[in-house]
Amino acid sequence: MPEHVVIIGSGPAGWAAAIYAARANLKPLLFEGAMLQEHFDNGRPPLGQLSLTTEVENYPGFPAGDLKPYLSSALDASRQSMLMMEEKRHAVTGPELMFLMRQQAENFGTRIVAEDITSVDFGGKPFKLTTSTQTVEAHTVIIATGASANYLGLPSEAAFKNRGVSACAVCDAALPRFANHPVAVIGGGDSAVEEATYLTKFASKVYLVHRRDELRASKIMAQRAEDNEKIEILWNSVVDEVLGDDQNGMTGLRLKSTVDDTTHDVEANGMFVAIGHTPNTAFLNGQIETNKKGYVKLTTPFRTYTSVEGVYAAGDVADEYYRQAITSAGTGCMAALDAERHLAELGM
Ligand code: NAP
Repeated sequence: MPEHVVIIGSGPAGWAAAIYAARANLKPLLFEGAMLQEHFDNGRPPLGQLSLTTEVENYPGFPAGDLKPYLSSALDASRQSMLMMEEKRHAVTGPELMFLMRQQAENFGTRIVAEDITSVDFGGKPFKLTTSTQTVEAHTVIIATGASANYLGLPSEAAFKNRGVSACAVCDAALPRFANHPVAVIGGGDSAVEEATYLTKFASKVYLVHRRDELRASKIMAQRAEDNEKIEILWNSVVDEVLGDDQNGMTGLRLKSTVDDTTHDVEANGMFVAIGHTPNTAFLNGQIETNKKGYVKLTTPFRTYTSVEGVYAAGDVADEYYRQAITSAGTGCMAALDAERHLAELGM
């Protein structure tokens, strides 16, 4: 028997879709991805980008406080042992938030498979989804595989991830290690400028490091960065090495000129990489319409419809603009409601 709803992906969009689909009695089957080291290395682990972050201060419903008693009562014992709940922090952490969402979906009867969907067949109905061990059939599919932040790929960058190196200023800028210290943003697009501007609220100074002599960002955003006294743009520069040590984490950057290859060091407690994201859509193998960058195209405003009827997309996989946990969760809910209505039209 084909499944009513299969959800692919285990970030906020996937779990929100699962909670809604499960509560609508659709018995969703969710593929959360395989626990492979290569997925962690490539920035797309099970439970999504939030599982790679520390505190999450902007997800509504989780203000600062001692969450330990709540987490102990809400989560399965097996999950609790995977968290460091005794650590002091200002808010819920990314992994905790994801475990809570996962638990909530499971409580309502979501069946969870720790495998990757490696290929899909949307050519006929029911749809077919294949992993390394099985093929499942489904009347509706929700794609919620997210996007992965692009990193520079330097070993020193990997060494200081979460200890100075971040790919999300909105998530991390207010953390104590950045307050009143110099930080750097890498990139020259709208995201880099937006992140740099946002960081000026917390950091003592923000270097914007761009590899060319002109920003890619829109004129108005670029002007805003150039006019901001706290932002210093370092033109024609790339990161040669992230500097730091075990005790202090990141302490600076060695920059290399793209003009003459000379290097110089700048002091910085943080490096925010804003050089774009890559949506996790390769497994779709062109069977769903995407834009030039690979993001799933939604065909109708305020709906999660894709180019294939019965296939929906939610979260960052279809959104290169907002990219927040709360917007992902919101569209996950929408996708489940869209799938439920489609099934009702089919009399299921
Ligand atoms: P983007 O426009 O693709 O810009 C990426 C930037 O990173 C470019 O400046 C690029 O340099 C640089 N870059 C790429 N690879 C690099 C590498 N390996 N080393 C150093 N630099 C590298 O991406 P985005 O800024 O994330 O924006 C994505 C989309 O969201 C855009 O359409 C943007 O307009 C939109 N957005 C809008 C807003 C807003 O309106 N408020 C805010 C954020 C994002 P080059 O310029 O040399 O290629």
